[in-house]
Amino acid sequence: MKHRCPICKKPTDSAEHADFPFCSERCRLLDLGAWASKKYVVSDPIFDEEELLEADRPTQQKGQHEPDETIQ
Ligand SMILES: [Zn+2]
Repeated sequence: MKHRCPICKKPTDSAEHADFPFCSERCRLLDLGAWASKKYVVSDPIFDEEELLEADRPTQQKGQHEPDETIQ
């Protein structure tokens, strides 16, 4: 079965390449690294959202307090 390496687009053959559909172990590891970094990016905003929620509470309370003290 013939295919193309998803990393460098070189033609690969399932009968010839042990790392099929990749042309070499290097390309296979490169794809693994790309997938791992994608997963890391996806989990990042979830962590950010939690930090934003906690940072939001004291900011809102402070904003409500200050105008009250100015009026009195
Ligand atoms: Zn390749």
